[in-house]
Amino acid sequence: TCSRDQPVSTLPSTEAQVLRFLRPNPSCFGYAFQYGMVFDAGSSHTSLFVYQWTSDKTNDTGVVSQTLSCNVQGPGISSYANDPPKAGVSLRSCLEDALKVIPDERQREVPVYLGATAGMRLLSMENKSAADQVLNEVAKTIQQYPVNFHGARIITGEEEGAYGWITINYLLDSFTKVSFAPRGTKILGALDLGGASTQISFIPIGPITDQTKASKFRLYGFTYTIYTHSYLCYGQNQALKQLILKITEGSVNHPCYPEGYQETTTAASIHSMPCTASHAQTPSQASWNATLVGTGNATECRMAIKQIFNFTACGQSQPCTFDGIYQPPVNGEFFAFSAFYYTFSFLNLTSGQPLAVVEDTVQKFCARNWTDLKSSYPKEKEQWLREYCANANYILVLLLEAYKFNQTSWSSIKFQMKAANTDIGWTLGYMLNLTNMIPAEAPEQVKGQQY
Ligand code: AMP
Repeated sequence: TCSRDQPVSTLPSTEAQVLRFLRPNPSCFGYAFQYGMVFDAGSSHTSLFVYQWTSDKTNDTGVVSQTLSCNVQGPGISSYANDPPKAGVSLRSCLEDALKVIPDERQREVPVYLGATAGMRLLSMENKSAADQVLNEVAKTIQQYPVNFHGARIITGEEEGAYGWITINYLLDSFTKVSFAPRGTKILGALDLGGASTQISFIPIGPITDQTKASKFRLYGFTYTIYTHSYLCYGQNQALKQLILKITEGSVNHPCYPEGYQETTTAASIHSMPCTASHAQTPSQASWNATLVGTGNATECRMAIKQIFNFTACGQSQPCTFDGIYQPPVNGEFFAFSAFYYTFSFLNLTSGQPLAVVEDTVQKFCARNWTDLKSSYPKEKEQWLREYCANANYILVLLLEAYKFNQTSWSSIKFQMKAANTDIGWTLGYMLNLTNMIPAEAPEQVKGQQY
């Protein structure tokens, strides 16, 4: 049938008629829009993404685009451990916004997924039944809407890394361009930084000697073996908690906080998650609180941050990042997104500045006092403003000391949040994979280009 395909029902009738007139309805030409939705339930917040594509092109590359993204009000779902039904309620407003952009008659076929990441991985380690209840409640809420719900689950760190890698390369058409270039040269690596975990995924030059870190995909006629690893507890919020624990072993000065900023922290807030709970707690430590005094010193901040990485655990088993984790040397171009992008974008460092410029900018930013920062950036959330110095230094230590990017390879990192008008993250890759939208073999017309 040639039914309307735009959400015109929400518009006043005259406007609706104009829209119908201006936008040709694809279903009148024998194809129609299809939609999919994915919730990214991160540690600090949840986002909902709605994707759209035309059904005649399902198996091409780069045809899926994002039509809507919605930020769920409130914290990440793992924060509702003590009141799971509220996790479900928090999703309602975004779900309702999403349904407004999908025509009524298509809604029942729309696949909807919810993937929870490191915040829920941590909650599940700490209190499995609370994590299960939160997942049940969010699932119950989504099931109340007229969509094709495919379940709410905690995705693994490896999935998170690999789907982020698929998303970028899909959006940039790298999988189908590969036939023109020497194998693999156009394929990008992925650097993802969340609040509770961080992922690195790329195709190394040599073999991957630790098979637990290898993921294999057959996409559009080529087989890709990527190295991927997810570091739980090394997302930026958990890393900063680890840092506070280290700092308070010795002094009250916090070199990564701006001068003039003070904060009283309690043992309860620091030890609340498995990332910092393992540090021995005597009864007196359990009730400790400390006032942290910002000293705004980038050099000392970077030295303090290095302390949360166990570099010596690598010993002779190289190549290795820290904590004894194997990683072959980085290779090719990388996209650094999510919190890598937020901090670098705030510091105006997303236009490919050389490492020396980046380090100088960070140095100067860290030296600005809290009064100056608050009056210069009155609209910025205070929590973010006080943490940009810490996060920028954390990013530098992670990329340079842990992953071992150097002066030269630094220029192959692009700090970017979107590609082809679509947010970069694991959600699109997850949906493409679960809906079988990436064929293992090349479609005929693409295959033809190889000859
Ligand atoms: P997650 O919730 O795990 O995806 O983590 C996102 C991380 O980015 C958290 O550390 C947030 O505090 C941080 N974040 C999110 N949005 C922004 C933003 N607009 N500016 C700065 N930091 C952000």
